[in-house]
Amino acid sequence: MALSGGGANSDDMRRHNLSTVLGILHHNRRLSRTEITHASGLARSSVKGLVAELERVGLCFESEPEANFKSGRPSPTVEPRDDVLSVGVSRDARGLTVGFATLGATIVHQRWVPLERATTSMATADAVAAIIDESRAALPADALLVGIGAAVPGFVSGSEHNEVFAASISWDGEPFAEHLSAATGLDAWVRFDAHLGVTAESIWGAGKDRPNVYYLYGGPGGIGSAAIVNGRLLSGNVGMASSLAHTIVKPGGRLCVCGSLGCFQAEVRLRDVFPQADARDASRHGVTPPPVPAEDLRREIALTCLGVRAAVLAFDPELILFDGFLSTLLEAGRADLEAATTVSAMPRLSQQVTLGVPALGSDRLLIGAADLGFRGLLADPVGLVARLRD
Ligand SMILES: [Zn+2]
Repeated sequence: MALSGGGANSDDMRRHNLSTVLGILHHNRRLSRTEITHASGLARSSVKGLVAELERVGLCFESEPEANFKSGRPSPTVEPRDDVLSVGVSRDARGLTVGFATLGATIVHQRWVPLERATTSMATADAVAAIIDESRAALPADALLVGIGAAVPGFVSGSEHNEVFAASISWDGEPFAEHLSAATGLDAWVRFDAHLGVTAESIWGAGKDRPNVYYLYGGPGGIGSAAIVNGRLLSGNVGMASSLAHTIVKPGGRLCVCGSLGCFQAEVRLRDVFPQADARDASRHGVTPPPVPAEDLRREIALTCLGVRAAVLAFDPELILFDGFLSTLLEAGRADLEAATTVSAMPRLSQQVTLGVPALGSDRLLIGAADLGFRGLLADPVGLVARLRD
């Protein structure tokens, strides 16, 4: 709820209202001033002043609307500028992607480099800094970088979210955000990649206006999952809420990196679906080279049905998104997976769950990471720009 009015804390209120307006712009990319007024709950005159201040510090611009024949004076449209950028980082077992996104999450430039699986957090941060330097020429002139968000294939805990535990890249409590800040001079935040993927999809993608979404991502490092319930991302004590990667789907089955036998991610793997695949292509695009024939994926589909059933029972989603190589299983076994969402024998109580794939394509983790990198700007738009331009 936006605040308005004056008083002893009027600076706080103004900052809060600037943050509200910029957040609305970030989530919608392009709006009329009237639409911002409706979405914010603020007075029309306040919104006019707030937009003018955001424009003055270089965060957005207004343009006159196309002439139309509707009654009443048309409202100017407001858009984020393309030279205020967040750096999105996505690290997985095979490599590193660094992208640059505007407010509104449009990626303007990105680069991928291969990395050894066990590359340390500090060396990864140095690689990010090198790519930022090399990318300057490809960015708009005088681009202002406002922060870094990073997606990692593991849990991020600690009070400051600064300890990364990711078995697939051998990180055991690595302070990656700290290393990123030291290497680049920018404020940095790091989160579990599935959390960022589902957040991006829920703001700009397939989960828009769907408050209950479960997300399942299969990549070279295993299976990541995340849940948005009643519009809120579930996190939990150490960030593991909603994870099904280590749910046992085959007692006594394959040994998992966690030490258990028969975990979901040990039983359903990228290399079972794409035996010949370059892992990056398979996880990002799911298309080349072709997966094994659908009839040979019966085992993986049956085991994934157990994961889907567990997700439906635990999180009651209206939409389950299958990402990475799991989208190939959805294509090959949709009927079985849909049947697995019906967990009640009573038709009136059976679940109404849609199964789908992300709408943001191969950029969704990068978009979620870049969104995280805007955290400081969105909290204090004018203050942060003043500090960075100083
Ligand atoms: Zn496990």
